[in-house]
Amino acid sequence: MKKFLKKSVAFMACGIILASVLTGCKASSKTVVMGTNAAFPPFEYYDGDKITGFDVEIAQQVAKELGVELKIEDIAFQGLITSLESQKVDFVAAGMSINEDRKKSVDFSDSYYEASQVIIVPKDNEAIKGEEDLKGKNIGVQIGTTGADVAHGIENAKVVEFNTGFAAIMDMQNGKIDAVVLDSEPAKNFAKANDKIKVLDKSLTTEQYAIAVKKGNEKVLKAVNKALKELKDSGEYDKLFEKYFK
Ligand code: GLN
Repeated sequence: MKKFLKKSVAFMACGIILASVLTGCKASSKTVVMGTNAAFPPFEYYDGDKITGFDVEIAQQVAKELGVELKIEDIAFQGLITSLESQKVDFVAAGMSINEDRKKSVDFSDSYYEASQVIIVPKDNEAIKGEEDLKGKNIGVQIGTTGADVAHGIENAKVVEFNTGFAAIMDMQNGKIDAVVLDSEPAKNFAKANDKIKVLDKSLTTEQYAIAVKKGNEKVLKAVNKALKELKDSGEYDKLFEKYFK
């Protein structure tokens, strides 16, 4: 009996090792991993337990270009660049804006979307009409974002950082902060679903979204730029635009 147990344990261990070798192989050669923060509609968000959105559809084209399957890792926005560097993910598609600071650690693809930072306030707030009125106020932002950078530049403002834009909006509704600075499309999206908040017309910046890869990863960068060009040339990009932004 003892012998039998020993044998079967050994057999099982082999099976596990074999399985992990096989899947290990599969992960590296048959998939490409997108890193994102899936709390940024309409670019990436959960539909049930599936992550979908504009960026996801672009990423699917990238996977097609590489002839592999797309895998998505949902990570805190702040941790995305690190996960590129540690090769936990192959590219980041997360409504990420190109900026000089990030360019030091990653390579960006061609830009695929022009965005801006906007101000969200409670619907009944008449005092905050634009950037000037944010001086000395409590401003909520998503940690590690360009919106956070903008808010940190506002005179005497107290910047409160959250893991997601949505969490910042919730705290604003609870009266803990005065305003939220967030990217334009997610802001519009949240306002559409919430009649207690409004988005101010005047935007604070103009930014270009691009897909980021680990510095020097020419293979994936080329596939991304090819995918973007393919989507634009085929008219598919316009269709996606219509689907997610209208
Ligand atoms: N566009 C902003 C940035 O790049 C926010 C992106 C996001 O929150 N997903 O920092």
